[in-house]
Amino acid sequence: MSHVTLTLACNNRCVFCAQRGRDGDAPLEGAEPRDATVDDAGRIAFAGGEPTLVPDLLDRVRAARADGAARVLVQTNGRRLAYKAFAQSLADAGVTDIEISLQGATPAVHDYHTQIDGSYAQTVKGALNARAVGLSLTLSSVVTRSNFRHLPALAQLVAKIGANAWHIGAAAPVGAAGLERDRVVPRLAMIAPLVAEAAVIADRAGVATFATGVPLCLVGGAPLWQLTPGSGDYGPACDSCAARGSCGGVTPGSDARSVSDMRTLSAAPRAGARPASWFAGIGLTAT
Ligand code: SF4
Repeated sequence: MSHVTLTLACNNRCVFCAQRGRDGDAPLEGAEPRDATVDDAGRIAFAGGEPTLVPDLLDRVRAARADGAARVLVQTNGRRLAYKAFAQSLADAGVTDIEISLQGATPAVHDYHTQIDGSYAQTVKGALNARAVGLSLTLSSVVTRSNFRHLPALAQLVAKIGANAWHIGAAAPVGAAGLERDRVVPRLAMIAPLVAEAAVIADRAGVATFATGVPLCLVGGAPLWQLTPGSGDYGPACDSCAARGSCGGVTPGSDARSVSDMRTLSAAPRAGARPASWFAGIGLTAT
């Protein structure tokens, strides 16, 4: 999938932000926009930083549609969509899909992660407005040491908002999380039971759940789909694992503890019917 990073500027300061600190003290602002074209499947995604801060976002969306895009996704923290008129303007310009990051089911949990008081209220309102104006909504959550116990409650909120899909990604030690890994990056064996429990709740509500960085051997037969099988890091336990072909492994750059948590499976977990196609996010198109 083609995607364009419009800016690194953002009005959140997430504790796990992959964009921050890559080069020691990399700036949050000033990134040069990169151009991308619509892919062969007629899709394009706009990302950041926070793309809704970019003044010509709507013009770029219109241009993409004029260039033949059938699906246009914006990956956002959702805060600006709290203004219904802005959400409507995205839909009117031709946005079809929106991916909004949501890190907790309460202001305390979400705002701790974004480090912006009031962001939870805006993000939840933005997600509701996205659905109200007819956008296909994926909610996306990064699992950290501070929110993994809250995943079942978050699953209930995801269902209540009416998301079409939910993406759960384990925090990996890159960007801001890499600078404070002992505060942010969880041990996978600790979060996996909560990820599995949350996936069951979402599944019962009809929300398709995708995971990255949470291996199949840790979540058993939970109803969540590995979004990018074959794309992660694998360990010695994977060599003879029956699930190797359908497992996403751990996020590249994860630490040795994640690898030591892997367990060879003698049979691949039973899977239900995979959603035929889902435009799930930046580089995360499930087909
Ligand atoms: S052992 Fe490796 S391939 Fe098998 S489920 Fe675990 S991480 Fe995936």
